[in-house]
Amino acid sequence: MDIRIEKTQCPKEKPDSSSLGFGKIFTDHMFMMDFSREEGWHDARIVPFGRLSLHPASTVLHYGSEIFEGLKAYRRADGKVQLFRPIENIRRMNNSAERLCLPQIPEEDAFKILTTFVRTEQDWTPSAPGTSLYLRPFMFGNDETLGVHAVHNATFVIIASPVGSYYKEGINPVKIMIEDADVRAVRGGTGYAKCGGNYAASNRAGERAEKKGYSQVLWLDGVERKYIEEVGAMNVMFKINGEIVTPALTGSILPGITRKSCIEVLRKSGYTVTERLLSVDELDAAMKNGTLEEAWGCGTAAVVSPIGELCYKDVKYTINEGKIGEVTQKLYDTLTGIQWGRIEDTFGWTCLID
Ligand SMILES: *Cc1c(COP(=O)(O)O)cnc(C)c1O
Repeated sequence: MDIRIEKTQCPKEKPDSSSLGFGKIFTDHMFMMDFSREEGWHDARIVPFGRLSLHPASTVLHYGSEIFEGLKAYRRADGKVQLFRPIENIRRMNNSAERLCLPQIPEEDAFKILTTFVRTEQDWTPSAPGTSLYLRPFMFGNDETLGVHAVHNATFVIIASPVGSYYKEGINPVKIMIEDADVRAVRGGTGYAKCGGNYAASNRAGERAEKKGYSQVLWLDGVERKYIEEVGAMNVMFKINGEIVTPALTGSILPGITRKSCIEVLRKSGYTVTERLLSVDELDAAMKNGTLEEAWGCGTAAVVSPIGELCYKDVKYTINEGKIGEVTQKLYDTLTGIQWGRIEDTFGWTCLID
């Protein structure tokens, strides 16, 4: 796999780390390559960041053939840049591609592409506390015909965006509303794939929750609206009467890499973590009788996000007095410590870009 590199003639000025936000500023270059049934993946290139040109009949614009990934490059105290479990993102992307009939990218090629691109853009990795370089690989069907079929042509792109600290004013627990009308995904559908369509289907409930003052919704399963699935763009975990519970990956839940990492960190620290079905009735009872000790969301953007209030059927429950819990804090400290290289990575999760 050869990657052609065409450097920009007019590099942009790096932004001030206080003005970063999320996904608003992009680096100087992007990675692109094209797929056709005849040629396979070809023309791998790093080119100046710019607009894409699409045929108006392009598959993605009509039938939503799109998948994406999200991971970060972290600046360590010694100035070096590292990735966190990138192979997991690559594997998940190929699983998502399989579900949407998009082409596979061999793991070694995807790894080379990702690391070469990060090396090219590494100066864009900010160093202020909590900041990072967010990487957004995505792939879409790009046939120039309105016929409905598995795609013959696809495009793979990676863009990068320096992002600010998720917790500028300290870790504030969020308010979450349990959604009992709309559903995000069903078993047999695309819930386990990281695809744009899942988000398109989520927006309405998200909007409604926001209007009521909640930051995201907690989804219930799409068949019975009975079992807890996940929160917006995060997986979810609860500490109920000493047991740490997270919904099992039944096919409609996105298998988060932060979720997986939380489970591994917790088990290594001696906690019992159970992946199982958790009904909203069980959670409701735990909220009522006070055995719900902690709740948090987990995902790449926030790492862990404590839940301070849950609303179900218009009844509001405060969790741990609206403060971050002990396990949540410990997970946050451990994972961010490994990601930014502040503590030793005994799991072998980090991947240095040199
Ligand atoms: C990306 C994502 C997550 C979190 O996955 P991470 O790999 O931990 O970032 C959870 N739920 C949904 C719906 C997602 O898209």
